[in-house]
Amino acid sequence: MSQIEILSTDNKLTTIDGGLRLVGHKHISTVSKITTVAPCKTYIVPLQQHIGAISQPLVKTGDRVLKGQMLAMPGDLVSAAVHSPVSGTVSEIRQHDIPHISGLSDLCVVIDNDFKDEWIERNPIAEDYNNTTSSELRKIVRDAGIVGLGGATFPSSVKQTEMNIKTLILNGVECEPYITCDDALMREHAREIISGADIIGHIIKARQCIIAIEDNKPEAIQALQSVVDEDGTGYFIIQVVPTIYPSGGEKQLIQILTGEEVPKGRFPAELGVLCHNVATAYAIHRAVFLGEPLISRIVTITGHGVSHPQNIEALIGTPMKKCIEHCGGYTEDSDELIMGGPMMGFSLQTDELPVVKATNCLLVTARQEDTHRQRHLPCIRCGKCADVCPVRLLPQQLYWYASSQNNDRLVEHNLFDCIECGCCAYVCPSDIPLVQYYRHAKTTIWQQERERKSSDISRQRHEAHQRRLDKIKQEREEKMRKKRELLKKKSQEQASKNQGDEKSSKQAIIAEAIARAQAKKAQRNKDQGNAGKQSSDKDSTGQEDKSKEISQN
Ligand code: SF4
Ligand code: SF4
Repeated sequence: MSQIEILSTDNKLTTIDGGLRLVGHKHISTVSKITTVAPCKTYIVPLQQHIGAISQPLVKTGDRVLKGQMLAMPGDLVSAAVHSPVSGTVSEIRQHDIPHISGLSDLCVVIDNDFKDEWIERNPIAEDYNNTTSSELRKIVRDAGIVGLGGATFPSSVKQTEMNIKTLILNGVECEPYITCDDALMREHAREIISGADIIGHIIKARQCIIAIEDNKPEAIQALQSVVDEDGTGYFIIQVVPTIYPSGGEKQLIQILTGEEVPKGRFPAELGVLCHNVATAYAIHRAVFLGEPLISRIVTITGHGVSHPQNIEALIGTPMKKCIEHCGGYTEDSDELIMGGPMMGFSLQTDELPVVKATNCLLVTARQEDTHRQRHLPCIRCGKCADVCPVRLLPQQLYWYASSQNNDRLVEHNLFDCIECGCCAYVCPSDIPLVQYYRHAKTTIWQQERERKSSDISRQRHEAHQRRLDKIKQEREEKMRKKRELLKKKSQEQASKNQGDEKSSKQAIIAEAIARAQAKKAQRNKDQGNAGKQSSDKDSTGQEDKSKEISQN
């Protein structure tokens, strides 16, 4: 895969496939400057606010904690630390509802604020970052719990391990029609954002930094441009891009700026580019220059269902209800509460949920507000959804397969390439909430995949156990067979020995009998011989014997 050459401002921008020009509602929340939510009594800090493994708690109930203290460390390489937003006491560590599309709860650390605002010892390295190694800076970013604040929440330090990056792209393209938190940050903290971008560039050894901003944010463009002009090195380039939704998607923005498409299943780093959101750069600036971990973020509170829409700085863990109250509360005709924008956001059933690192916007709709979330009609196969899909998918096909739970066909039709931008649902004349179908299908497939893996593991373990039993059985049988053979051999030997003994004893008996018979025969022969001699002696000596008898008498 070829690497992208250094770009200049003369570079021609390309356009993405599909996409939409949406009616903007950004002006609603940009009339005032960023305000800060007043301290709350209780903060709920979820341990899973990022992509990757859940964080591992370092505190227990009853512990006193300081503001900025690490409450939980990263649970794995791809994970992020979480920190206490205030000083106080850990009152509980328990399951609590979290703002997630699943609507499920998760483990949270509950902190009772002591209102003393006592910080941990902060050790900023400030300008010294130029003399600090990439790995040391990455550790600062990791220890600060910084994740992608554009909504992806991928741990930033993990992203920064990529090598051979030529171009850092700073993403200031905030394309959802209601969200303005990045716009507000760029207007009010341009210097800190550029400082954060410079730190990231130092970590990844980038040769240039392109700051991409949509043309509907003139104040932000001007604020950043003046800092870039002051810098004067030519390292930073401001690139204004047309306002087309969803230009802010990472792959879409890379395509617009470079003309190169990140192939399916590949990473931007393979093209020599790395994308970070402007809010992430701001958080990195704070970690390096102030020694502060990520304990707050800018949140857009907007929509016609809230009294005074605006951008607020809220501590992580602040109950959403307090954020809405800070903005004057709900209007009388407030309707739905959505986290994120109308395109990619999701409904929340309650405002008793904490602000998390991913909370870029709380949109409160009014009953008359058209956010394209009405009851839907059947699909008429008009194909409008396919025309606007920036990933060139076939949304209506995905919808059919999702409705019929045909997961194999969904995977074949690249469901997992869907970036959930919502363009298809937006144009659908039948108002089908297509993205909800895709999300549900993805969750089901992931769940099945997890179950399949878990059942594979169980099956493998069962088979391994069975193999062990079979081996033991075989060994035992082999042992028995050998034993039987040995016994048989012994008994055969004994039998043959016995036979031999019997034979020899018989032979001995026979030999004895023969010997006796021979002896008898010899005796008989001898006796006969003697008898024959005596008889002949008698015949010749009979007179003499008689005379001997007479004389003896
Ligand atoms: S836009 Fe809606 S109605 Fe038209 S094909 Fe797509 S899903 Fe069906
Ligand atoms: S939500 Fe998915 S399928 Fe629909 S337009 Fe966006 S990328 Fe395409």
